[in-house]
Amino acid sequence: MEAWTGGAYGDRGRCVLAPNPGIMTLDGTNTWVLREPGSARSIVVDPGPLHDDHLDAVAAVAGEVEAVVVTHHHDDHTEAARSFAERMGCGVRGLDPAQCWRSDPVVDGEVLSVGGLDVEVVTTPGHTTDSISLLVEADGALLTGDMVLGRGTTVIVHPDGDLGSYFDSIARMRSLVSSGRVGSLWPAHGPVLTDAAGVLDHYVVHRRERLAQVEGALHRLGLSPAQLPADVAEDPTLPRRVVEVVYADVDESLWGAAEWSVRAQLAYLARR
Ligand SMILES: [Zn+2]
Repeated sequence: MEAWTGGAYGDRGRCVLAPNPGIMTLDGTNTWVLREPGSARSIVVDPGPLHDDHLDAVAAVAGEVEAVVVTHHHDDHTEAARSFAERMGCGVRGLDPAQCWRSDPVVDGEVLSVGGLDVEVVTTPGHTTDSISLLVEADGALLTGDMVLGRGTTVIVHPDGDLGSYFDSIARMRSLVSSGRVGSLWPAHGPVLTDAAGVLDHYVVHRRERLAQVEGALHRLGLSPAQLPADVAEDPTLPRRVVEVVYADVDESLWGAAEWSVRAQLAYLARR
């Protein structure tokens, strides 16, 4: 597997990789600096962890920062947001007002215009309720936060994340590709994906397969989706029992994350 270290993408994207690798963060968090060529002003997306060397590296390529934007509330994206915004003399924006600082929340369809660069906010809930993507149409790129990752597939953290919304958001991204506005995906973890259509289609197929496996596991456990309690939390041991069947071939270190996904799948099946 080729090592991912960040770098320049399109004419307007620059990825500074944060030094926080892990099971959930892959190589680390991608901090994206978006800037029109020749402009002094930029937008910084997901400053990442509080790590001085990383934030110095981001500041060095960012010039004057107009706004810090967070793709969702998870710590590996937002921990440094306020202090970095304070250092750069700007505010923090995100969909969730609780993430904002000295700035208003973003809204779906809003265009952030900075030094000749237009970045459109596309709300894409699923991984979390407050997940957004950012469209840099001039480069045919969509920043996907944690909705699409550079490797593997994302985790839906139920109940904040929701599988029904996730399918809707992936379909929305796919329509941006079909209409020719997006060709590549710039994720918040792992490498840039240049086959946006292929990746999004794979995400849907993968989720449908996992759903079928979860239904199969329920069957083996003597249950049917129709018998699931409306609130999956009523049977706290069920997600783990399903994981042990569905993820038998996956390293046990990933079972914790898998359990969150299975919870989301059970909630989806219970509502269907
Ligand atoms: Zn996340």
